[in-house]
Amino acid sequence: MQQSRNDEVVGKIFVALRQDMRRCLICDGVFTTQGAAEHAGTVCHPSKGDSDHADR
Ligand SMILES: [Zn+2]
Repeated sequence: MQQSRNDEVVGKIFVALRQDMRRCLICDGVFTTQGAAEHAGTVCHPSKGDSDHADR
């Protein structure tokens, strides 16, 4: 078994919309590359996590 440290996730998952635009997959927020870098260090929550994630 491998030890996976999921204690604290520093790196968030971002999707590149454009060259300088990133979208956070967690809170669905759109940031610039700089904003995304700062956002990666903050805690964000999914907006309206009412229902479970629809994974298509
Ligand atoms: Zn976020």
